[in-house]
Amino acid sequence: MSTTMLTRTTVRARGVTKVYAAGGGADAGVQALGGVDLDIAQGAFLAVMGPSGSGKSTLMHCLAGLDRPTSGTITIEDTDITTLSERRLTDLRRDRIGFVFQQYHLLSELNGSENILLPLRMAGRRPDPAWLEAVVDALRIGDQLCRRPSELSGGQQQRVGVARALAARPAVVFADEPTGNLDAASGRDVLEFLRYSTREFGQTIVMVTHDPMAASYADRVVLLLDGRISGELATPTPESVLGALQELRG
Ligand code: ADP
Repeated sequence: MSTTMLTRTTVRARGVTKVYAAGGGADAGVQALGGVDLDIAQGAFLAVMGPSGSGKSTLMHCLAGLDRPTSGTITIEDTDITTLSERRLTDLRRDRIGFVFQQYHLLSELNGSENILLPLRMAGRRPDPAWLEAVVDALRIGDQLCRRPSELSGGQQQRVGVARALAARPAVVFADEPTGNLDAASGRDVLEFLRYSTREFGQTIVMVTHDPMAASYADRVVLLLDGRISGELATPTPESVLGALQELRG
């Protein structure tokens, strides 16, 4: 029996360029992205890699609606975010996008549970208790919810940060070097959960990293060079990612 799988595209980029204005009048500026086409399927775990200055942060900021491309289009679940007003873009980020930061960015005066719920509260949305319980259980942070960040290890803080990113069941989670501040074991915990969330919850994740080990948890790696996609790896391993990066650097 054959099954037809309908894959939905959650994030779609077409011809995305970004030129940062230079200081002086006639100066051409810096081209950070030179025409990026990218489709990210629902439930994909995508890692974006490339040398420093290749455009990873710029691409992520454009895809997440934190910055606007100079040209091209980006859609998130069929909404063209490049033409939205600032206000509607802010609403879309709050409602449909989750963020995980290298430095966690938890609020020190709130406990774990309050930190996780903060984005929902700010959006005036009611939490889904069953969903939150599933996320908290999978992250094994149930006994840390009453603690403030200062009472948690780095790995525990990042797992709270990941729960916060998923709390609103966003269309896509953008993770910027989510394991950059963690020891190897805590980093693995976070990466295993991210992968689990794509497989079990259908969560879509885009992760920027320079660590081949971290990228090997993704199911697809896109390599950037000089603001363009210069290669791609399916079913990456630490070795294949390292090899591809070395090739990229020539
Ligand atoms: P990566 O994240 O891969 O290190 P970035 O996206 O930060 O790369 O940068 C891509 C290019 O754009 C680099 O040449 C960088 O110097 C330039 N750039 C990034 N942000 C700015 C900015 N705000 N103003 C001017 N140039 C920038």
